[in-house]
Amino acid sequence: MADVIPFDQRDGALWFDGKLVPWREAKVHVLTHGLHYGSCVFEGERLYNGRIYKLAEHTARLFESARILGMTIPFSEAEIDKACYAAAESQGIVDGYVRPVVWRGSEQMAVAAPDSKIHVAIAVWQWPTYFDPAEKLKGIRLDISSWKRPAPDTAPTQAKAAGLYMICTMSKHAAEARGYADALMYDYRGYVAEATGANIFFVKDEKLVTPIADCFLNGITRKSVIELAKARQIPVMEKHIEAKELPGFSECFIVGTAAEVTPVSEVGPNRYKPGKITETLMNDYAEDVRRPVSQVKLAKAG
Ligand code: PMP
Repeated sequence: MADVIPFDQRDGALWFDGKLVPWREAKVHVLTHGLHYGSCVFEGERLYNGRIYKLAEHTARLFESARILGMTIPFSEAEIDKACYAAAESQGIVDGYVRPVVWRGSEQMAVAAPDSKIHVAIAVWQWPTYFDPAEKLKGIRLDISSWKRPAPDTAPTQAKAAGLYMICTMSKHAAEARGYADALMYDYRGYVAEATGANIFFVKDEKLVTPIADCFLNGITRKSVIELAKARQIPVMEKHIEAKELPGFSECFIVGTAAEVTPVSEVGPNRYKPGKITETLMNDYAEDVRRPVSQVKLAKAG
């Protein structure tokens, strides 16, 4: 990790509460509600060829996450969309990662902080793309986390809220320490849920099987992949998946804005061989994210 420039020591500008500010000066005070009490939601978006893939969906989710946590974003969705592009343009980035974040400020340092100011920042940075499909098709190895995704009446599971990532970081640290790339998390009932920052799919008898997103994020990539599969006449079944079903699947892959479609070769003791369906959807997704705007409009109209 020695060659990674720390995120507070980069140059350029980012969008902060309505204007572009120098990157290194985009600071918050240590006494900030979002830091102490987790009142913070965010998005993760990808910019491909100068276009943010599914920006409207991401911005809508940001507002919904904030609403769930009782935070009113002091901008319109259109203003946030524009700000995402302004942040990208200011960095001269056409292929990268976009990170909008919303948090409660420093006005009140107690559990209840209804009069806190709601802040918004958007930063854009370079994101390496995976060039070698053959290498990618070997698949990554997933550990099985000891942490479970919480019940919807235990945590705001449909919000992309910072607090929900506490167990994801702990799970991923534990997996990496054991030599794995990531971890599969079960949910509070013991059903297969997702990886620490991506949804999961399996293949059985030429059909896709994926967990019902009833206690974790119904990812934008998950929805895109389901559409792409349907366009290929690949049947998709959303169901509760038990641990005992894992050995019966032939292929496995994870999906997310950052992960895109990433083949998986192992989940704990289970072995998978990334095959035709995984490869097809990996390629279809790679094409979809870079589809020119005119084609996107045509696809929507048709
Ligand atoms: N689950 C978790 C926990 C995530 O962090 C992400 C990434 N945002 C996803 C699923 C996939 O969501 P999306 O496809 O919208 O990026």
